[in-house]
Amino acid sequence: MTIERLSDIVISQIAAGEVIERPASVVKELIENALDAEASAIQISILEGGKRLIRVSDNGTGIPADQVELALTRHATSKLRTADDLNRLLTLGFRGEALSSIAAVSRVTLTTRHRDEQIGTEIQLEGGALIRQQPIGAPTGTVLSVESLFFNTPARLRFMKKEATEKRYINTIITRYAMAYPDVRFVCEQDRREVLHTVGRGQLADVVVKVIGVDAFKKMVEVNALEESRNQMPSVRISGYTSLPSLTRGDRTQIALFVNGRWIQDSKLTYAIIQAYSGLIPTERYPIAILMIEVSTDEVDVNVHPTKAEVRFRQPERIFAALQRGVREAITQGNFDQRRFEHVRSSYTIETTAHDSWNSHIQLDLDLQATTGEASSEHEGRFSASETDLQNPNGPKKPRTLPPLRVVGQVGAMYIVAEGPAGMYLIDQNAAHARILYETVLERLQDEHAQVHDIPNSETVELSPDAAHNLERNLPLLNKLGLRLETFGPTTLIVRGVPQELADKTHQLQSLIQSIADVVFEAQPEIGEAIAATIAHQIALKAGQILSSEQMTTMIRQLERCKQPHTAPDGRTILIHLSGDQLAREFGRG
Ligand code: ADP
Ligand code: MG
Repeated sequence: MTIERLSDIVISQIAAGEVIERPASVVKELIENALDAEASAIQISILEGGKRLIRVSDNGTGIPADQVELALTRHATSKLRTADDLNRLLTLGFRGEALSSIAAVSRVTLTTRHRDEQIGTEIQLEGGALIRQQPIGAPTGTVLSVESLFFNTPARLRFMKKEATEKRYINTIITRYAMAYPDVRFVCEQDRREVLHTVGRGQLADVVVKVIGVDAFKKMVEVNALEESRNQMPSVRISGYTSLPSLTRGDRTQIALFVNGRWIQDSKLTYAIIQAYSGLIPTERYPIAILMIEVSTDEVDVNVHPTKAEVRFRQPERIFAALQRGVREAITQGNFDQRRFEHVRSSYTIETTAHDSWNSHIQLDLDLQATTGEASSEHEGRFSASETDLQNPNGPKKPRTLPPLRVVGQVGAMYIVAEGPAGMYLIDQNAAHARILYETVLERLQDEHAQVHDIPNSETVELSPDAAHNLERNLPLLNKLGLRLETFGPTTLIVRGVPQELADKTHQLQSLIQSIADVVFEAQPEIGEAIAATIAHQIALKAGQILSSEQMTTMIRQLERCKQPHTAPDGRTILIHLSGDQLAREFGRG
């Protein structure tokens, strides 16, 4: 073939392939246009998963009559003039490609009236070619109807998924925008059935309730964190909602991220959120999160992808860390509040007489003076005389996160059976011990006087150059955790001291340090947590070890004051609770 310039229509069709992948892409672009036009209400109608019809109506500014045709040509935009403007974009669109792309692969009818004009315009195109344009009476705003999508690009048509799948994609897009713009009223119907209707009163919570339901929403906590700018790092605000560890999903599709009002997809930032839950939810489970990131517009480049779904940050680590910290704080705080609330509901009083520390004796009676916050602190008072020696005598006493439990025995050299004010508890000894060690090691990060066990003949460990390098970069942090390492050649490290918990594990040093080097590499920036988890899992008491009742009681006393006594650092369940009611029901007493 000879070389010839492609016709505009063919160029548009090719370009459309990038911007308009599927019906949901059309919905996205039209919603963005409506939002950019300052609409306060957007109505969306879909037929047959968008294959037959996508119609988006808005009450925004409308398009002036003399610009309607231009709006539908390639690279025509009212939102950008110079390349410099890209750094201070406040609009969702800027490429001037959406309308022309959509028009190139469908039959489009656009009806619009600009707010300063008396009369509106209606224009019709088919496969990008103008069919008709005429003045028409219309309310202020714009209605865009897209019919027979991909009718002239059979390859695309064949690649469309099942109708139900396309519908789901569309719903996802609409709910994401409804969440990002709670002050805009969204009404959406698919095949004439209403699927979403938001009030547009400006409350994100209102929208989230509509999308995930009231019951799920009760298990969400609010995130609101501001990291001020310092050392040339920009300020970042994180806000929104994230689920408590008790509410999870089997995949990460319910994690939604927005940057300055734009829904983005970013696997690293999604991972930051998932990682904030490490140790709190099982692996393979994922939180629900709706999180808004606000940074100054010159900190993000939104022009890296034709669909604008990916962005690039000038300082991605900054955003990663802010997001992770914000979420982590919200859930640890929220989790604790919720647990305290559950305690208040338990309707037993505990009478505790601790004659000696190992055999604290707990009586249950059905006095309905509930175990409220005050009541239980009273019990703690009685406990404390004999219990102090179990706690770090110098440190402040940590708050209780479980009611006092009495050890009854051990099952299968794996589980501890205990009794508490609200029934019976089965505790996985390995998971519980890992949790205790994990929190102890992490506490070292805050404690300058934590004990270190010196290794008199300072052992050496051999690592791969990469592993050794990973550790070297983090020597100060490792030092704080109680791991005193020194470099000794490119692949050799000298171990001078280890955390007290590892005193009798020095024969495992090589494998322990190797696994720490592995996680240090993966776990930026929550390195402390990752190292603590690794240490905890390596040295935790294994299943199959028979424990004395003293050992079990010590462990349970420590578990009662762990911040997260319900899950091991790797997410496994630590305890199963059978309430008095459940037992009664099982025995037919209820
Ligand atoms: P972009 O949004 O990147 O500017 P589009 O192709 O999506 O490009 O739209 C082209 C232009 O048409 C916009 O810049 C805007 O001026 C106008 N436009 C499109 N949709 C609407 C709408 N719903 N209301 C008002 N103006 C619109
Ligand atoms: Mg646009």
